[in-house]
Amino acid sequence: MKTPIAELDGDEMTRILWKQIKDTVLSPFVELNTEYYDLGLPERDRTDDAVTLEAAKAIARLKVGVKCATITPNAARMTEYNLKAMYKSPNATLRAELDGTVFRAPIIVPGIKSYIPGWVKPITIARHAYGDIYKAVEYRVPGPGRAELVFTGADGAVERKTIFDFKGPGVIQGMHNRDDSITSFARSCFSYALAAKQDLWFSAKDTISKTYDEDFRSIFQKVYEEEYRTAFEEAGITYFYTLIDDAIARAVRSKGGFIWAMKNYDGDVISDMVSTAFGSLALMSSVLVSPDGCFEYEAAHGTVTRHYYRYLKGEKTSTNPIATLWAWTGALRKRGELDGSPDLCAFADRLEKAALDTVASGVMTGDMAALYDGKAETADSETFLKAIAEKLT
Ligand code: NAP
Ligand code: MG
Repeated sequence: MKTPIAELDGDEMTRILWKQIKDTVLSPFVELNTEYYDLGLPERDRTDDAVTLEAAKAIARLKVGVKCATITPNAARMTEYNLKAMYKSPNATLRAELDGTVFRAPIIVPGIKSYIPGWVKPITIARHAYGDIYKAVEYRVPGPGRAELVFTGADGAVERKTIFDFKGPGVIQGMHNRDDSITSFARSCFSYALAAKQDLWFSAKDTISKTYDEDFRSIFQKVYEEEYRTAFEEAGITYFYTLIDDAIARAVRSKGGFIWAMKNYDGDVISDMVSTAFGSLALMSSVLVSPDGCFEYEAAHGTVTRHYYRYLKGEKTSTNPIATLWAWTGALRKRGELDGSPDLCAFADRLEKAALDTVASGVMTGDMAALYDGKAETADSETFLKAIAEKLT
């Protein structure tokens, strides 16, 4: 490893897995070169969350980061950890700092079947992470009256549109998005598709939303024509826009193997459907890609609190380390690509193969055993990782 990667440690069961993964399948095989940031809740509290911002800046500087799952504090965590403040979600801080888009893809494990049998290749969901209903202003209409959309320009010019003449009570909602945010989302999607060498779909509802969704459609088209068409043609991949209804029908009939970009709400709900169809939250990988080419890899699941409380009682848990392992292989492979270190990329490939071969030999964690099509032996996390290390050797 010529250049370090930013390593962001986390909380609870995934923090335990983090160390096991490093000790068992990484350090014995590769000279790890990382800049370590402890995003565990006690350290975030001690530093008033400054460590999270430092970690984000390290990812921006080093271009590659790998992150363990972290607790997003709520009222119960305030008491549990005796916190000074209810800190923001670390992922929100990282996303805001890197201006990134999150891509989520299932890890296809032979023997673990999708609920949609035709899906034999991963479908990666790219969800726009700014605006729409997540930043909407809502109003409960108490009774008869006119609802209007009013825009006051910086020059004082006023534009007005009637939303509805209410005869009785109802509700209204005002939402927005920004061209610069949509443009950077589009760039992240096109760059990711090129790096993954997969087709890119973008779907929205411009037939109904003729100004709002049309803005998304036309920005994607413009960015594609001006910045990416040539590269896509050279890579032999395609970009196409289609209505969200049509995209859903096509997706179900497809074999998978494409990137599907969506607006914020569509991505929120459809990613849950797609990930469930592929089997398990524990087999979902996630990467935050910034428009200027920084990559932060992590598992899509949380800190697996229920398993951690059992671990604290001295039990050996069968927590699935695959998504966290894939966060590491993703980061090491990207480091290898950026630094021109083919050995590092090859190591990442071998490690993934060793993990899949271990499952194929019938040794796996309990969650996978429950979904496995064949004879399976349930192993605790450490035993599973040791079996992977043996295959790797
Ligand atoms: P979770 O940690 O994803 O776990 C939910 C349940 O899913 C687990 O109890 C377990 O089910 C199953 N599961 C998830 N990952 C698994 C794995 N690797 N192996 C085996 N089973 C797995 O979600 P949560 O319990 O709602 O959240 C816990 C904490 O994680 C929260 O404090 C939350 O803030 C945080 N969180 C962080 C991130 C992130 O950092 N990206 C994302 C989401 C949540 P069974 O108990 O049935 O075995
Ligand atoms: Mg959701």
